[in-house]
Amino acid sequence: MKKMALHWKILIGMLLGILFGFAMTFLPGGKDFVSNWINPLGTIFVKLLKLIAIPLILASLIKGISDLKDISKFRNIGLRTIVIYIMTTIVAITIGLVLVNIFQPGNGISTETVEKLTNTYASNSSVQSKIATAAAQKSQSPLQFIVDMVPDNAFKALSSNGLMLQVIFFTIFFGISMLLIGEKAAKPIKDIFDSLNDIVLKMVDLIMLTAPYAVFALLANVVVSSSDPDLLLALLKYAMVVVAGLLLMISFYCLLVSVIAKKNPFWFLKEISPAQLLAFSTSSSAATLPVTMERVEEHIGVDKEVSSFVLPVGATVNMDGTSLYQGVAAVFIAQALGYPLDLGGQLTIVLTALLASIGSAAVPGAGMVMLVIVLEAIGFPADKLAIGLALIFAVDRPLDMCRTVVNVTGDATVSMLVAKAEGKLGIPKTKNWDDHYDEVK
Ligand code: ASP
Repeated sequence: MKKMALHWKILIGMLLGILFGFAMTFLPGGKDFVSNWINPLGTIFVKLLKLIAIPLILASLIKGISDLKDISKFRNIGLRTIVIYIMTTIVAITIGLVLVNIFQPGNGISTETVEKLTNTYASNSSVQSKIATAAAQKSQSPLQFIVDMVPDNAFKALSSNGLMLQVIFFTIFFGISMLLIGEKAAKPIKDIFDSLNDIVLKMVDLIMLTAPYAVFALLANVVVSSSDPDLLLALLKYAMVVVAGLLLMISFYCLLVSVIAKKNPFWFLKEISPAQLLAFSTSSSAATLPVTMERVEEHIGVDKEVSSFVLPVGATVNMDGTSLYQGVAAVFIAQALGYPLDLGGQLTIVLTALLASIGSAAVPGAGMVMLVIVLEAIGFPADKLAIGLALIFAVDRPLDMCRTVVNVTGDATVSMLVAKAEGKLGIPKTKNWDDHYDEVK
């Protein structure tokens, strides 16, 4: 009998999780049951994915660089990647700004709703901590992000998922030096990392066997911890504008895949879908990264020389969904609070949202921290920031789930485009978790 495809299993898990979570909200003690007994399954799954992120980046980037026959290729890949990332992000912000200006979701919000949202969320600890984190980031010098990219202790960098860019820096430095000592001298280390790479990718396959159950737990928990449905409804128009923008962005990626990479966009979406579904369920592009890498390499055919650089860098610096959302949210807040925003203000949004998406961490809710910086850049009064964030807080989690899907899809698309340009887009060679199982069982 033909096995059911992974994306269908995950999708069924998600739907059952939503239904289960919904049913539990009606039972006395149901919410506590989900958060105490079901949610830990999802948390373990996310931890397992994060567990292998650093070994995977290390092994695959070293393998990728050491497979390069000449270093100048790496410079081409790097430059292309950064330029395409910036371009797609500008397209995303522009789509967001155009939609929010056409549909003006903030103008229809009544004063009572603004008051209700403010009273419910403005002093909420989560909103306050986002403002505090943004203030800490803003007080740094402009070049601080480059300084932060350079580790002073390789082992410390390798021991923290939050220091992904430091790991990438160290690994590229290591890989290039490896090329420079010549093939013979580098061989022992190369063999170790080649093998480590295969092992970690196998770990991804094994973790993914539990994905359908884990997404059940993750989504049931999202449903039981979601906000009051009345507040969600009041923000429906705003949420719909964000979602419409995100869908347009996915269509834009499909266009790029078909016109530039010359591949069928439906095939692309099908092959990448397990990563998209996990991005939706976990709201974290960093946690999804191992799966994105596995799908792009083994199922889409992007060579490791490209994917091992483009994807980890993209997970941290390329967030098209997040920047689109920042554009829409900033204008929505300005509209709802009657804060005038001229063309100059909108252009400031394009620039700061671009920088903010580069600076956002690839974890749930990070986009909202950077939104504070975008709001401050357009001169939004500091004492109203908490009210501004309170306005959109109720729908932030569902929108975070959707924008993370776009963040991940954007990274995968760009890796295809760069691979195509470098002649590194080949025929995918799918590996199954049990390819060697008979030999060891
Ligand atoms: N959750 C997003 C990500 O990890 C970031 C954000 O928009 O909050 O990609």
